[in-house]
Amino acid sequence: MLELQTVCKSFTGVAAVQELSFFIKRGETYGVLGPNGAGKTTTLRMIAGILIPDHGRITLDGELVSQKLQHKIGYLPEERGLYPKMTVYDQLMYFARLKGIQKPEAHQSVQAWLKRFDLSKHINRNVESLSKGNQQKLQIIAAIAHDPELIILDEPFSGLDLMNIDLLIEVIGDLKSRGKTILVSSHLIDQVEPLCDALTFIHKGRSLLSGYVEDIINRFSESWWDMRINENGDALEAFAGIQEIDRHEKSLNRLKFTLKPGVSIQHVLAKLPTTIRITELEQKPPSLKQILLSCLHNDGVSSEEAVL
Ligand code: ATP
Repeated sequence: MLELQTVCKSFTGVAAVQELSFFIKRGETYGVLGPNGAGKTTTLRMIAGILIPDHGRITLDGELVSQKLQHKIGYLPEERGLYPKMTVYDQLMYFARLKGIQKPEAHQSVQAWLKRFDLSKHINRNVESLSKGNQQKLQIIAAIAHDPELIILDEPFSGLDLMNIDLLIEVIGDLKSRGKTILVSSHLIDQVEPLCDALTFIHKGRSLLSGYVEDIINRFSESWWDMRINENGDALEAFAGIQEIDRHEKSLNRLKFTLKPGVSIQHVLAKLPTTIRITELEQKPPSLKQILLSCLHNDGVSSEEAVL
């Protein structure tokens, strides 16, 4: 199990990560999500043992994360860290050997992964001559060729075309089915949501929400409503005065809204003028993206600024 306990990291004048706590069970896929500048890369670099937290603890199976655990950890950085003049093969062998695996094993693993990522034909080319997408695939192989237990992928889909995105999703699924623990960061929720068992959503270094995706959606479902009303110009005016709800979408005869904490739907209905006839009213489970956007909204980000 990977566990973060009240982890903090500041750079001069910037609190990049503040009191972050979460855990990931072995074999689970976990998303570290958040808008640009939220603190995702800083978090991942601390888990990878590259940065040391100012406060708090990060442990893998009870042991503090450090350079000593590097053979158990695979890290795909957001910025490429390849040697441009090396050949694809030498590069991958170098990284695998650095993580402590023997030459024959490293050779076998590198060959197999190159084949899986359709890069075998480039094996003797210099890294700098590869396309951006192929360099990203190379960097992904460098993170996993030593068969680590914990795989940390920072924005792994960056630079990949749709076919390669599908291929990587498939590879992540295979690694998961082999019991690997996988951590994925992204600011693009739609891409990573289907992969994640659980997640933490960070903004300005703080976690706004964390847990299993299913639990999060269930937790929020009760307060999301979709209402249709008879066409009545006054209807939306009437809703505008109700402080106990947040409106998300409205049209002439339809309103999607959430109840503020502790508010019942009966309470809201009682506040509506009797002239409004409700033709349909149902609880509407929100998408994960809608939930995360509403968290940003509650954290003071305007709807126009909130992009995920
Ligand atoms: P993005 O999605 O844009 O990559 P992120 O969520 O990964 O963003 P971080 O890169 O962790 O965010 O940055 C969090 C904050 O810490 C930002 O305000 C960033 O400017 C700052 N920061 C990160 N690294 C450093 C550093 N080495 N020195 C100074 N400030 C830093």
